[in-house]
Amino acid sequence: MSVLVNFKICDNAKECGGIEVCPTGALSWDEEKETIKIDNDKCISCGACERMCPIGAIKVAHSEEEYNKIKEDIDNDPRTVKDLFVDRYGAAPLSEFFMCSEDEIESKLTDGIVLVELYKDESIECLLKSIPIKEITSNMPSDTLFYKAEVSENNYGLSEFPSLLIFKNKELKGIVNGYYTVDKKEELINKINETLE
Ligand code: SF4
Repeated sequence: MSVLVNFKICDNAKECGGIEVCPTGALSWDEEKETIKIDNDKCISCGACERMCPIGAIKVAHSEEEYNKIKEDIDNDPRTVKDLFVDRYGAAPLSEFFMCSEDEIESKLTDGIVLVELYKDESIECLLKSIPIKEITSNMPSDTLFYKAEVSENNYGLSEFPSLLIFKNKELKGIVNGYYTVDKKEELINKINETLE
């Protein structure tokens, strides 16, 4: 009885829903190593974690044969973490370069376009469901900047997160509220463009 995690496509985040629902502690978060920890001695193959993972990165085996098959599938998965671990709108912050505090937003503004994603911990979604920042800004001038800021004071009075603040020439031109999945990428880009017209 074991659980396997395909780390090629897994966010490997503390917020993993599998950890949350695991009744035995077979899946946990290793604070020191900052990774999902698996203890198969504790796994009862209940399947709760597998049902919770939105991208199918967690698989549960009920026999040695099934374990070997799942392991082989993971080993042969052509995707790599490198493909996924780029900064994304709606996903956990991955690069310090894009981070600022809510209070620092004003100081980041330039004579150009600056997008700031305001997020709350609970608004963070899986990387595979989120939109790469490069894709959001691909039609914008090359000096367009993007930052992520965790909401502290909620100075902009937002009720949905993540939300995107759109600045041009240091002026707030508009706000796109709420989360957009990959399939709504065009909708998000159109909204941003309408704001900038
Ligand atoms: S199958 Fe059940 S016991 Fe095993 S890791 Fe998943 S949630 Fe935990």
